[in-house]
Amino acid sequence: MRNSRTTLIRPVALPDSASAPVVPGLMTSVVYASDDPDMLDAQYEGRADGYTYAREGHPNADLLARRIDAMEGMSGGVVMGSGMAAVTAAMMGILRAGDHVIGGDQLYGRSLRLMNTDLNRFGIETSLADATDAAAVEAAIRPNTKMILIEIVSNPTIRVADLEGIAALAKSRGILLMVDNTFTTPLSIKPVDYGADIVIHSVTKLMAGHSDVTLGYAVAKDPDLNKAIYDFAVTTGMTPSPFDCWLADRGLATFELRFAKTQENARALADHLAGLPGVKRVLYPTRDDHPDAARAKALLGDQGCNMVSFEVEGGRAQANALARAAEGIAFAPTLGDVGTTLSHPPSSSHRGLTPEARAAIGISEGFFRVSVGLEDTEALNGVFTRAVAASQSV
Ligand SMILES: *Cc1c(COP(=O)(O)O)cnc(C)c1O
Repeated sequence: MRNSRTTLIRPVALPDSASAPVVPGLMTSVVYASDDPDMLDAQYEGRADGYTYAREGHPNADLLARRIDAMEGMSGGVVMGSGMAAVTAAMMGILRAGDHVIGGDQLYGRSLRLMNTDLNRFGIETSLADATDAAAVEAAIRPNTKMILIEIVSNPTIRVADLEGIAALAKSRGILLMVDNTFTTPLSIKPVDYGADIVIHSVTKLMAGHSDVTLGYAVAKDPDLNKAIYDFAVTTGMTPSPFDCWLADRGLATFELRFAKTQENARALADHLAGLPGVKRVLYPTRDDHPDAARAKALLGDQGCNMVSFEVEGGRAQANALARAAEGIAFAPTLGDVGTTLSHPPSSSHRGLTPEARAAIGISEGFFRVSVGLEDTEALNGVFTRAVAASQSV
């Protein structure tokens, strides 16, 4: 039997090496073989470690989850196939029909859709409230309110949530507070330090950082809630790809450096834009002219995030000219990439709103959001000088 096809098809072990690799391996195996049924029992009953089937878990997902756990000061988090998988699993794994959830009224677009449409189909009640105002959130509380979901810095208007006020409220009313920490990241703020019960991420964005993977992460303080999130994710097949996890883990090696440099560039770009003719306003959380600057400085420290929004004079024609003239800057609705990307909310994330509804949150045709990357600071500012000038000469 030694030369049978099966032996040849499945070489079982790597060659011996007295030295160890310095890079974690990529484990693509879907199934894992145990010694015998007793061992399988031991694994299922938690008496022995080990994997069984990749949808239930695999080493690359766990390596990544433990790294994000450490950054957030949490434990037992779950990595999933996208940020929206994380939002969905954390809500649908924990809530039941008849419960009520409050969301910030400027949440990520698909989180809003989940709140406004999908949860309601399953009998979960939802409402939205202004997360910059704890009193507005308090007014939305019902007897059956079980969860509040907020983002600390909103997209694209860069408003800063009243995290402390909302956390105190959630605690006093026995409501779970879930924070989407995608924009701010644990390098800026650890929501658990402020009383968050659940933290989620789109790892796709700043953490992975290279626009080449789609991944999410969710973690709860309470191990039973972690288990509920894990079971929902595994049952509904939100499993991440091992290769995506491997890439994200690789991206995390430079996360601190990337975040420091992109914030530095973002602050410099915000200050630069504010001095350009044709720029009506600039939004960066820790600039003194920002409506939430005091709160941003208290929560986020000196800088804040890598996102800058700004508004130029004019309408669609000026916006088109600006996007076309921004040489080397991808006009693409994502964020957190190593390269700067430019997005225009009226034609992308906020296209579903009427012009009046957009105006109500300050988004005109001249409104842009920049996810600032790692370029040379002066070179980047120069691109925006030319792009804004081009828009104003239309
Ligand atoms: C992108 C994003 C999500 C969704 O993440 P995906 O990985 O695209 O599914 C959720 N919340 C915020 C704040 C985001 O920016």
